Amino acid sequence: MQPMAVLERLSAQGHEQVIAFQDSRSGLRGFLAIHSTRRGPALGGVRIMRYPSEALAFEDALRLSRAMTLKTALADLPAGGGKAVILDRPGLRRRAAFEAFGRVVEGMQGRFHTGPDVGVRPADLEAIARSTSHVAREGDRKLGDISQHTALGVSHAMRACFELAGIAPRGARVVIQGAGNVGGWLARILAEVGCIIAVADVNGARARRVAREVGGVALPPARALTTACDALAPCALGGVLDARSISRLRARIVCGAANNVLATPEDAVRLARRGILYAPDYLANAGGVIRGAEYELLGRTQSWTSLEKIHDRMIHVSRLASRRRISTHEAAERLALARVRAGRGKRAR
Ligand code: NAD
Repeated sequence: MQPMAVLERLSAQGHEQVIAFQDSRSGLRGFLAIHSTRRGPALGGVRIMRYPSEALAFEDALRLSRAMTLKTALADLPAGGGKAVILDRPGLRRRAAFEAFGRVVEGMQGRFHTGPDVGVRPADLEAIARSTSHVAREGDRKLGDISQHTALGVSHAMRACFELAGIAPRGARVVIQGAGNVGGWLARILAEVGCIIAVADVNGARARRVAREVGGVALPPARALTTACDALAPCALGGVLDARSISRLRARIVCGAANNVLATPEDAVRLARRGILYAPDYLANAGGVIRGAEYELLGRTQSWTSLEKIHDRMIHVSRLASRRRISTHEAAERLALARVRAGRGKRAR
């Protein structure tokens, strides 16, 4: 990467800063991107993956940190967006690497708070916590289970989508792609209100376990996106909805937890053209970050009520989209960017 190309890349979407970090002793290498601190400290998890190249890791940090700014702004949190990515590579001494990463976070002096993301295990978070207090650890009992909060937030967005589509939750057929932390909780929460659950996971045993628990069925992973249902909840990886998969969907609603679920912004228009109601990913999956911000920045103990606002936000975004004749994705982005431009956030509502 040419140095000037990096600066052009940062200015293109308004990123404030990117730090490239490395630690020779542990083999740590990665990027920490701060997209915005206009509304408050940047919040964002750390992800560890085998990236095909440094350039792709850099791009991932930029993309994910911007999405965090949109997520915190839309949730009206006094916080901004950031993200860290670590390159998983041969010879990495994992524990020492996460401790060294903790020192990078500590060096930010509270401008960046981190937590779990793809590939990060509880032991990694404990290692980070040895070097900094600016990390949400899953073992912290006062914080609670972040994934459960995320799933509950998705269920509120789903409730709004059911209302907008005129579907009764009791008896509604929901397909959940990904029976992991969030997908598992979501299945339990939706089954409680009478939804009929089908779960698909590349880990078949996991899908069967969750299905059994909620009295639902397990689907082969290949059928997750093509099974007829009232709502599809993508709770696995991003980028699953593109021109091809959207043309084959048989769902009336798409509402899940997976970050960056649309391959491109045009896919939101494709969904709208097919009459499929889409809950923007960072609107629906904000429950975890809302909980993290309440705990870290606002000093609040466990509260579930702030997550209910996700329902109201979904209704608001859908109405705005209809009025302006734009996709729900664009409506959410416009709202979030207006809040970022307006500056410092209010207390979480
Ligand atoms: P997880 O790793 O616990 O679960 C993901 C599951 O998806 C795994 O069981 C995996 O086997 C399965 N999977 C992977 N590829 C699949 C495929 N092609 N088809 C079917 N299943 C597949 O992750 P998680 O914490 O539950 O997060 C799920 C998604 O939600 C991720 O995209 C994550 O970025 C996003 N998210 C999570 C949180 C949170 O609080 N955990 C918050 C916001 C967003």
